[in-house]
Amino acid sequence: MTTPVIYMDNNATTRVAPEVLEAMLPFFSERYGNPSSMHSFGGAVGREMREARESLAYLLGCGTDEIVFTSCGTEADNTAIRSALAAQPEKRHIVTTRVEHPAILSLCKFLERSQGYRVTYLGVDSEGRLNMKELEDSLTDDTAIVSIMWANNETGVIFPIPEIAKLARSRGIIMHTDAVQAVGKIPISLKDLDVDMLALSGHKLHAPKGIGALYVRRKLPYRPFLIGGHQEHGRRAGTENTTGIIALGAAARAAKAHIPVENTTVRGLRDKLENALLAAVPDSRLNGHKADRLPNTSNISFKYVEGEAILLLLDQLGIAASSGSACTSGSLEPSHVLRAMGVPFTYAHGSIRFSLSRYTTEADVDFVIKNVPGIIETLRKISPYKQGAPDPLSPLDTKPACGC
Ligand SMILES: *Cc1c(COP(=O)(O)O)cnc(C)c1O
Repeated sequence: MTTPVIYMDNNATTRVAPEVLEAMLPFFSERYGNPSSMHSFGGAVGREMREARESLAYLLGCGTDEIVFTSCGTEADNTAIRSALAAQPEKRHIVTTRVEHPAILSLCKFLERSQGYRVTYLGVDSEGRLNMKELEDSLTDDTAIVSIMWANNETGVIFPIPEIAKLARSRGIIMHTDAVQAVGKIPISLKDLDVDMLALSGHKLHAPKGIGALYVRRKLPYRPFLIGGHQEHGRRAGTENTTGIIALGAAARAAKAHIPVENTTVRGLRDKLENALLAAVPDSRLNGHKADRLPNTSNISFKYVEGEAILLLLDQLGIAASSGSACTSGSLEPSHVLRAMGVPFTYAHGSIRFSLSRYTTEADVDFVIKNVPGIIETLRKISPYKQGAPDPLSPLDTKPACGC
């Protein structure tokens, strides 16, 4: 595999920013001390870690004592839900949505199947937006936690987390948000919100893979997931990923400075790409609400073609994009997110997610605009659906969520 020339798969993972790499490198080599050690060689690493925690707290608008470093976004999500359940053993109901990442959905299905919890999976409308009335009606005295993502990884659609958190708080229910795609792309200020827990992941914001964090509101009842040493004030045992934590701190500082650019330059490039493709390719459509969306994400469906085939032809040109989520694209099922939105089968199968970053250039965008229409035309010539085959209703359309 050669390095992709044009990388438009930033919702799957991002490149480590040069300043982040530079900040973390010494902690692999000469600064390898354990922050828990009594000697100053380790203690100095601990001080750098505190600085990283301050940078992340500043990005999120929360206290440094409210951050627990984890190994990834998935661990932060799992910790949040398991903690809320363990802290309130009498409550047996979970509220989430049909469009969550597998880090939430697969855990909820596990809890439902093997632990007897009741789970409500809220639906979305054709533009991927949540029905607040349905959410309100789902809450009961038995509800232990509401877990709703801030921004969807496949469509970029943003949910109204401030309102959702307010509603949960008014009912005395713990509210967690998977903000892995939102952190670093849109402004977040937790001190003004009723959010109780928030998960993020380093590799989605230009830090490396293998580091994440969970925000836990001060005084929230909390039960650790990993039990062992006293690291993270007993909230997450295991010797800290010092290099990852230092990197996440540097990435948080870069993100704080970058958010305005994300919402002007990156958004401008995304809009240029999206508008050009929708105009140039007949029978194409945008998936997700046009306005309530992350500035870097565009999910477009091309009717009558297979997303996987489009990806292969893009790949031959050195363009890296994605069809559905990385997990869904490993199977032949159409994306659970597009299914929840009711996107017709012939469109859902031909969906491509372009996700940009601060490193995307106008030349990248122009190259994609120049090549995609021809690729779609080529594939449509050989598509079986184009020749008048009926639009088969997927038998999977009734399944609540992702099967992975
Ligand atoms: C990537 C992602 C995760 C998982 O994060 P990892 O660090 O890869 O475990 C969770 N939720 C969303 C929305 C994501 O995009």
